[in-house]
Amino acid sequence: MTLANVCQAGEVALIIDDMGNTRADEKAFNLPAQVTFAILPHTPYSKEFSQRSDIQGREVMLHMPMESLAGTYPGPGTITSSMVPQLITQKLQSALTDIPNAVGINNHMGSKLTQLTLPMETTMSFLKQHGLYFVDSRTTRYSRAEKIAHENGVVSWHRNVFIDHTLNESDMQRQFDRLMRIAQRYKRAVGIGHPHPKTLRFLQQRLPLLERAGIKLIPVSDLFSGKAASYLLAKQKDSPQPSSISVSQVPEPGAISTTGTQ
Ligand SMILES: [Zn+2]
Repeated sequence: MTLANVCQAGEVALIIDDMGNTRADEKAFNLPAQVTFAILPHTPYSKEFSQRSDIQGREVMLHMPMESLAGTYPGPGTITSSMVPQLITQKLQSALTDIPNAVGINNHMGSKLTQLTLPMETTMSFLKQHGLYFVDSRTTRYSRAEKIAHENGVVSWHRNVFIDHTLNESDMQRQFDRLMRIAQRYKRAVGIGHPHPKTLRFLQQRLPLLERAGIKLIPVSDLFSGKAASYLLAKQKDSPQPSSISVSQVPEPGAISTTGTQ
């Protein structure tokens, strides 16, 4: 492969969500340090995992629990639709105090909350104030979070592919191939997985394939640095947005019912 091909093949940011509930999640630390961890606040291992990530030079995000349509309890520190803006800000502040090295956030569940303007505006104004980026986990196709992030001047992205909708290896392979295709076609793609033993084993085996395909594994914040950052800022200022190159318009993975109400 020529250098030109390597440069053109794209970049992938991979996030491991839901870190912090169990000791077993620590197996994820065996993944390359370019893999970003999204840690759940106020969980038994949130502080420890956040510190260990720092030692490894691994990027950490705050995986912020938000109300879902299904009514499943997302966990400690959840933001709900009934909260006034002041309380939402308090929840974010308290979660960030638990994971102080977080440089960005993404939503844990949130299929209800990410559709609501006021809670999202409050969230984005907090992120702007603290210089944090936002990644929309896209637990609903109706999410307004990324749009509201743009309006508030928060740099953002969205999940392109969930690696482990199911823990079946052929399903994971299909999702991984999809992630690579999006990166090759649109230059950058974001995948999300979870610290299930099967997912971790799968990623351990497959991540080296990225490099062989000329795809660079990057921490999430690299999406917003250098060229990418100026591109994103230009995109946010443009009105209307240039649809032909808008990364926001990368086709979503087919709606899979298990995440529809998360
Ligand atoms: Zn989650």
